[in-house]
Amino acid sequence: MATTGTPLALTGGTVYVSPTEEPIRDGVVLIRGETIAAVGSRASVEVPEGARTVDCSTSTITAAFWNSHVHFFERKWADAAAIPAPELGRQLQEVLSRYGFTSVFDLSSHWENTRQIRDRIASGEVPGPRIRSTGDGLVPPGAVPSEQVLGIMGIMATPLPEITDAAQAAAASRKLLDAGVDGIKLFASSPRGGLLPHGAIEAAANEAHRSGKPVFVHPNTGADVLAALRGGADVIAHTTPRSGPWDEAILTAMKERRAALTPTLALWKFFLRHDRISIQESLVNTAVGQLRAWLGAGGTVLFGTDLGAVDPDPREEYALMAEAEMSFRQILASLTTAPAERFGGAALLGRVAPGLQADLVVLNRDPSKDVRALADVRYTLRGGQIVYPAGA
Ligand SMILES: [Zn+2]
Repeated sequence: MATTGTPLALTGGTVYVSPTEEPIRDGVVLIRGETIAAVGSRASVEVPEGARTVDCSTSTITAAFWNSHVHFFERKWADAAAIPAPELGRQLQEVLSRYGFTSVFDLSSHWENTRQIRDRIASGEVPGPRIRSTGDGLVPPGAVPSEQVLGIMGIMATPLPEITDAAQAAAASRKLLDAGVDGIKLFASSPRGGLLPHGAIEAAANEAHRSGKPVFVHPNTGADVLAALRGGADVIAHTTPRSGPWDEAILTAMKERRAALTPTLALWKFFLRHDRISIQESLVNTAVGQLRAWLGAGGTVLFGTDLGAVDPDPREEYALMAEAEMSFRQILASLTTAPAERFGGAALLGRVAPGLQADLVVLNRDPSKDVRALADVRYTLRGGQIVYPAGA
């Protein structure tokens, strides 16, 4: 582990300082304490005597990643204050740090519990990502599955605020915001067809926006997406493959609202893993088409997987984003600069530049040749500390 006193130099790698600039070949990233002190070619950055050096000559270095759609709602996170620190650290590493994620947005989980995880990481007790959370998501009445179904899904049975009118949506949002959440999440409809009452999204969004916090909406249909955008949503939390392609009305509303999308493409394949391959392919292709249309209309994309409901390995999500004709640089932006800008972290995160936090990923292979390489992580650094692999 890098100590605060000893500078750390990552030498010889290909460094993507941002998604838009040409990479530095045979580059050096010099880290002092939590921050990046210098970045440039080997000739331009002087490595101080006594610095710890890591040879990265066969590696690619980028800013560390954001997963903008995760959930800390699985049973393994329950009673977070009581999980022994080494075990909590291992659990976080297994699903996040080992894939390069040092920032996440949790889009519905029990806030009192998730706050414990966040605080134990923030205090330095447990290595892990920077956690933002919406806390408990707001749902239409009857939307939460039975305890038995939640048990099979591996999800803690904690009640979510059921919303029956707009005033209640405002009050529930205000309560969460007062309790310190970083955004508000609403489920526009239940899988069984129940809808949030008229005006609920707008009422909740007004409260969130008054506090300068973003609003996320889980849609099940294209109509839900439209309702979310018209109600003031900042982020659409999924594509909606069961409802067919997205039309001009949705894309126009997206542009007016300047909304972002977490596509969660691999989620559909995972949900349908017990179904016939032709059914899986048909739905995934529809979702890929929705993402392609969103990009074609100039929409912002934030990388997000719905971690907690899917396999933690993000490589298939990267491959499906590429299928939607996202370039490596666009995918890198969805992992770094786009979420940092959207969630107000761009002054400290998202690029490899002097003065920014040393949140970095060292990859074994060049992802510009194969985007799946974004999941082939050699090291993950958060604030200058190597958090993956443990003990490095
Ligand atoms: Zn989700």
